[in-house]
This record gives sequence, C-alpha cells and structure tokens, in this order.
Amino acid sequence: NVDAVLLTHAHFDHIYGLNRVVELNPEVKIFTNTAGQEALLNDRLNMSRYHETPFVLEYPENIIPINDGDEIDLGNGLIAKAIFTPGHNPSCITWIIGDAVFTGDSYIPGIKTVTNLPHSNKSQAIESEKLIIKLCESRTIFSGHKTE
Ligand SMILES: [Zn+2]
Repeated sequence: NVDAVLLTHAHFDHIYGLNRVVELNPEVKIFTNTAGQEALLNDRLNMSRYHETPFVLEYPENIIPINDGDEIDLGNGLIAKAIFTPGHNPSCITWIIGDAVFTGDSYIPGIKTVTNLPHSNKSQAIESEKLIIKLCESRTIFSGHKTE
C-alpha cells in the first residue's frame, strides 16, 4: 500500500506510472508544488508529449500542493521536509527524511545539472546546488538518476 508520493519534480521520466499508483491506491496523496501540479496535468510541461507516450495525471484530486519548508508527517515518526530547489525545473523539490536527502534532478553528484530544457533556469540551479550540497554535508544523498 502506498500512502504518499513525494515528487522531486514533474518531468515525464519521474512520473510515468503515477496513474497506476493511484488506481492501486485510490487514497494516495501526491505531494508537489503548484508548478508540479500544473505539469502533472499538462503533457507539454511534463515533456512527455515529446517522448514516447504522452502522460497526464488522471487524478488531479490526489495532488496536495505544498509550500517551501513544509513538513509532511509520514507516520512511524518519519517527517519529510520539502526544500524547493528550482533551476532544473520550477517543480523541483529536494526532500529531507531523517539523514537521507532525495534530490531528484536538482543535484546528481558528478553530473552537471541539466538547465537547457524549457522552464530551466541556470542561475537558480546554481543556487539550488549550493543549498543541496550544504544539506547533504551530514546526510546520505539519493539522486534522481544513477551516477557512475
Ligand atoms: Zn528532470
């Protein structure tokens, strides 16, 4: 059973499968920001239109828009803190859960952050990277793609 999905951002390669997740877990809460909310419902903004299969979330009522710094109680004493880290995309959120940091595509160690996409912002990405590196000092990093 899945109770919550914490989106790092709403690009197609991170959201394909969400409709199936909601089908199997009708009460699931999908946490994102307002930019992510918009992109989940628009195949141009989530870029799936330019990929193999266009994707639009069919369950907008499951989206919970959050603000920078919000803390989500995941139960069992687990709190997820949302840190907005725009640059790669306006929907980018880095999640801190205990001593783990989930960075999505905002920061992938050893790989230059992609900022040549529509709605990317290079200077924001640089600021976000600095913030994330600081957040990761005493924590373990889990990025959105594998590093070699
Ligand atoms: Zn991405």
